[in-house]
Amino acid sequence: MSFRALDPAFSASAQLTAADIAQAAREGFETIVCFRRANEEAGQPSNEEMAKLAAAHGMAFIHIPVTPGDVRDADVDAFVHAVGGRETRVLGYCKTGNRAASVWALASGGKQDVDAILEAAKKAGFDLSTLRSRIVGRGALNGRPQHKIYDIVIVGGGSGGIATAASLLNRRRDLTIALVEPAEVHYYQPGFTLVGAGVFTPDVCKRQMAEVMPRGVTWIRQRATGFSPETNEVILDDGVSIKYRGLVVSPGIKLNWAGVPGLAETLGENGVTSNYLPDLAPYTHQLASGLKRGRALFTQPPMPIKCAGAPQKAMYLSCDTFRRNGVLNDIEVEFHNAGAVLFGVPQYVPALMEYVEKYGIALNLESKLVGVDGPNRVATFERKGADGAPERVTREFDMLHAVPPQVAPDFIAQSPLAGETGFIAVDQDTLQHVRFPNVFALGDGTTTPNAKTAAAARKQAPVVAINLLAVIDGREPIVAYDGYGSCPLTVERGRIVLAEFGYGGKLLPSFPKWLIDGTRPTRAAWFLKDRLLPPIYWHLMLRGREILCKPHMHCKNETATAS
Ligand code: FAD
Repeated sequence: MSFRALDPAFSASAQLTAADIAQAAREGFETIVCFRRANEEAGQPSNEEMAKLAAAHGMAFIHIPVTPGDVRDADVDAFVHAVGGRETRVLGYCKTGNRAASVWALASGGKQDVDAILEAAKKAGFDLSTLRSRIVGRGALNGRPQHKIYDIVIVGGGSGGIATAASLLNRRRDLTIALVEPAEVHYYQPGFTLVGAGVFTPDVCKRQMAEVMPRGVTWIRQRATGFSPETNEVILDDGVSIKYRGLVVSPGIKLNWAGVPGLAETLGENGVTSNYLPDLAPYTHQLASGLKRGRALFTQPPMPIKCAGAPQKAMYLSCDTFRRNGVLNDIEVEFHNAGAVLFGVPQYVPALMEYVEKYGIALNLESKLVGVDGPNRVATFERKGADGAPERVTREFDMLHAVPPQVAPDFIAQSPLAGETGFIAVDQDTLQHVRFPNVFALGDGTTTPNAKTAAAARKQAPVVAINLLAVIDGREPIVAYDGYGSCPLTVERGRIVLAEFGYGGKLLPSFPKWLIDGTRPTRAAWFLKDRLLPPIYWHLMLRGREILCKPHMHCKNETATAS
């Protein structure tokens, strides 16, 4: 095979054989770049085989999958990123050599005159004249202050973002990953409920972000403000953008305190609290322990919200405190739920109803908190009147545990990644964006119809890691998420109804029924939540140690392994 030299450092070739690789080594090439997608045609050697052959001759092997006839800026960026800074002789190949030459030409824009580039290509037997304007455009681009390019950019360093970063690195140590996260503290939010009950101290639920950031990740301490998925860019607070080959977005959900007039102004005083804020959860415990008589209101906004069981958990545990203090009979407890049912999966409702009755809770379904007058301790609710028209009722309170309405974060809702609801539009199985194949999302910020929980993010992280790596290797997503989410409903101190379910409300218990019957309150489930889940979160999930979350294959015909 004669390799076609485009400049002293780069030559292009058609598909290489084992003999060609040996020849390339003899001719002084140091790096082989494959620009073919995997399995483009029958008999095509795999990347693993080619990498082994290259290594046997002391050469590096890089795979940058390019779709025939569709060389994208991201492919050129990936090439520049992979070999740009190296003093190395590169042999690029694809089926005919044309993609390799095109990527070289576009990457050379701005470094050489466009006529010189096209002339060199012509001499080597490639007619790249249709690329003229793009080469000129790349020249302008290359003249710009250089964007930093990463293999993967992750936006959001909460449960989903950190777990995915760790899962990716556990699979491929040499990935360059940037994680964009402005917060200095990472919270274990599932613990907030137990802080609100006085079981955990607040420090159980927080770590410095630096402590949970996986080693090898570049932490960008900024806010992402926008996305340009066509050019593979994330725009940061300071106006600079960073580029990626693959993007993961896990931005969480926005607590819309302003959605209930008067609520934000009175949080933390006048008997108004919420376990949804780490600084306020201790106030829940303080209020519940101190209340001797009067009225305690607990509210739940319309879906979607994160951990849909958390509003009730705060209520049951407060009632348990009233009971232990011998004052339950002197306190009127009301639950105002904007939804039409106590809990969305019917199998768990009987056990919960037993506690509603035991604690003497007045259930108000389809009753939505719409206003709070803190100083006068009055809450206003909207519900359906007898004639079906909405009516407003006011309730005085001594304690109010309020959960705010929740919406997609603004920078997501206003971005090209958003679906109709403002959340990130991804396929519910593969978690791949519905329009941008190299973009994946997980956690509370997506359109997937699962329970928005950290337990869901634990199951989603390996799915995103496996599928994203497949996509940047030029393959289709391999594995699927089954919609698993978990909601440990703390019905009393020492007992939990462990709701575990997937898409369509299908029960997905992690344990045999004899150990934990999720539809009944059990001590074993409390032990799990109280003792086991925090270390599982900090030491396993955030480190990419994937227990009880092996994803299942998405595509039955896919031969690759899900690892
Ligand atoms: P988060 O963990 O919220 O992380 C989002 C991250 O994105 C944050 O670090 C944030 O700073 C960052 N971010 C936001 N905007 C930007 C931006 N512009 N640029 C860059 N980064 C940004 N789950 C359970 O499994 N079990 C439970 O028992 C449970 N109980 C809960 C009780 C309460 C009171 C609450 C509040 C939550 C509970 N959850 C529970 C839910 C669970 O905590 C969330 O579902 C989970 O944290 C979602 O992970 P995430 O990565 O989507 O979002």
